[in-house]
Amino acid sequence: MRETSKTAIEKNNKSVVMHFAKSKYDNCKWNKNTSTWSMLKKRYDNGQRDSQMQKLYDAEYSLIPCSPKDNLSFDELINKIDEVVNDTWFRKKFGRLFSDTALKVENASSRQNMAYAFGTDLLSFPPHFCNIPIILHELTHIIVDRLHFVVNMNKSYTTHGRMFAFIYLELVKKFMGERSYTILKTGYKNFNVKYRNRIPQTSAKKKILRERINKYNIYNHENNI
Ligand SMILES: [Zn+2]
Repeated sequence: MRETSKTAIEKNNKSVVMHFAKSKYDNCKWNKNTSTWSMLKKRYDNGQRDSQMQKLYDAEYSLIPCSPKDNLSFDELINKIDEVVNDTWFRKKFGRLFSDTALKVENASSRQNMAYAFGTDLLSFPPHFCNIPIILHELTHIIVDRLHFVVNMNKSYTTHGRMFAFIYLELVKKFMGERSYTILKTGYKNFNVKYRNRIPQTSAKKKILRERINKYNIYNHENNI
């Protein structure tokens, strides 16, 4: 246990269990007009197939530090997760997903060749994947997975779909700054990663229909029909 943050940290042999306390910001709104949840509910992904995975990896590639000396130690990684999850901005947006919950973080062997998130409460980081963009990437998986259960959106999101890409970009902007945000956003554009709302088919169809009717009316008017 540690007293420096509100998070109770239980250290085990090869992992740490972080228990995030409640915060007064946990039920705050995303902005004054739209709550986080109704805003997120309008974002949806195309289907079950994780078709954006490689594109997303390509898009984020320039954010990942190239030298191993830029990696964090496991303790620094835990501090970083603690700092992100207890940040007021973060709590205002995602607090309900973390309020009074636990997250297990594994200190994985260097033979493990990837960091990963499993379900709603496990992250695993080998030493050479301990850096801020990967922390934010894996934390985004936890957010997206928890959204399904906590908010009961009645649909699961594609692993690296629009919802994932949108939230990841938000986290990068907040915790890595404007420059990294621009790099990732440019990466999304270059590799065609979708992260905005999909325009519902019906409103697109309505627009075409409306234009047709207008043309028809103008034609009739000009020809006195
Ligand atoms: Zn991922």
